[in-house]
Amino acid sequence: MSSENFDVVVAGAGTAGSYISYLLAKAGFKVALLESKSGNELGVKTCGDGLGLHHVERMSRHLTPNPRVFQNKIEGVELISPDERTRLLIRGEGYVLDRFGWGKWLIEEAVRAGATLFEGHTATAPIVENGSVVGVKAVERRTGSTKEFRARVVVDSTGSAAVLRTKLSGWLISEPLHPEDVSHAYREIVYTEDEHERPQYIKIYLDMVVAPGGYWWIFPRSSTMLNVGLGIWGVLKLNPRAHYEKYILPRFKVREKYHIGGGFIPTRRPLKSLVGNGIVALGDAAAAVNPIHGGGIGQALLTAELASRTIEKAFARGDFSEDSLWEYNVAYMREWGYRQAQLDVLRLMLQTLDNDDLNFGLSRKILNEDEIYHLAAKGTDLSLLDKFKIMMQFIGRPGLLKKLSTSVQYAKEIGDLYLRYPQSKADIERWYAEVVAKYNEYREKIGLGPLP
Ligand SMILES: Cc1cc2nc3c(=O)[nH]c(=O)nc-3n(C[C@H](O)[C@H](O)[C@H](O)COP(=O)(O)OP(=O)(O)OC[C@H]3O[C@@H](n4cnc5c(N)ncnc54)[C@H](O)[C@@H]3O)c2cc1C
Repeated sequence: MSSENFDVVVAGAGTAGSYISYLLAKAGFKVALLESKSGNELGVKTCGDGLGLHHVERMSRHLTPNPRVFQNKIEGVELISPDERTRLLIRGEGYVLDRFGWGKWLIEEAVRAGATLFEGHTATAPIVENGSVVGVKAVERRTGSTKEFRARVVVDSTGSAAVLRTKLSGWLISEPLHPEDVSHAYREIVYTEDEHERPQYIKIYLDMVVAPGGYWWIFPRSSTMLNVGLGIWGVLKLNPRAHYEKYILPRFKVREKYHIGGGFIPTRRPLKSLVGNGIVALGDAAAAVNPIHGGGIGQALLTAELASRTIEKAFARGDFSEDSLWEYNVAYMREWGYRQAQLDVLRLMLQTLDNDDLNFGLSRKILNEDEIYHLAAKGTDLSLLDKFKIMMQFIGRPGLLKKLSTSVQYAKEIGDLYLRYPQSKADIERWYAEVVAKYNEYREKIGLGPLP
């Protein structure tokens, strides 16, 4: 079996893997980037293709995006009730990407910075010696031969399958995804006969019949080229493509289909740990996705940036142990993990609502446009609780309002717990026991059983 040595081996050349390869290669490290796909398939990803402007701005500090990858400039989100009588326009700039162009461009930047791309190479397992990951086994798809890629640090950026970290049985980082923690998604990119109105707004339709426990969307690339899809709560075991064909496709006069595909998205609280001896996980492989809307491109970029910083320091220390890499966990929880946890608490509540609740809540503006924007952009505070209390007296549906105020309260408390994420591994089990207890208390209050 052939064997090659690198400083860092990155498995998976999606957004997260390509971006960290770029950052580390630019910093002078010898990086191998392994990717299952090859040729024209490189960079191809089934996605809604929406990306918030703030993610692009943050990335631009390190790498200026090629303007050609931005297909449509977005001014905000139109949130639509199940009966389609209420449409809230929520401000928030962003882009609908030419996603394949984006993926290819990122890989090119990684290679230009000095990373070596091994396309058509599927990582099959981490190589573990003396309790540390020291490399990756991969199969070259063209020849069927197995190779070893050895390194001081291995990066699992293989997407939601998390091919490497999940094989480290018994390690903190190996935490599996429960069906309750994923969304099953399907989408088509289509050319339509009709002009789509307001293409500068992405549209999110809440409808628990069409997309139970999720939503369906229209993300316009232009007025006649649309990314249309849906996500359904994984625990329901429904086929999203069947729902798409039954409920969504008949609404459009499709001239041509450009690309179709599905996938699953982790929509949950942060993993207990994103690191192990000699390994870190990024992006979907680290379940670093917004649990409410399933957007994860921005978090793929963020995790790559934070992990690259930690890896650089680990090289300076010459220490690639879990303890040395732990600061990536701490940085992640402080930057985004606590908000991910807050949003996960709200996600669980939303998944218990039906169309009546949603029609009522949106039409009465239990949360108005500014409050929804604030929740999404800045996280939860308790300022909404007084409003809910007053509304309870005047607009009826006390059960729904109680559920909402309970979830805002717990979102704050659980977010605060994630802000107190342990500085070292020694405290992790005590801290996690608190998380589980708080989650279970909350879940009981909104009618869900204990954490699976
Ligand atoms: C239908 C759908 C719609 C979505 N819509 C949006 C959206 O609008 N906005 C948004 O922000 N996010 C969206 N997401 C989520 C977003 O696509 C992901 O969060 C993001 O792409 C994660 O990037 P990543 O690099 O972690 O993983 P990926 O992009 O999945 O990249 C993983 C890479 O690893 C490769 N790979 C996998 N296994 C191996 C292996 N064993 N060896 C080598 N290579 C391997 C894959 O081929 C792939 O190139 C959507 C997801 C889906 C499924």
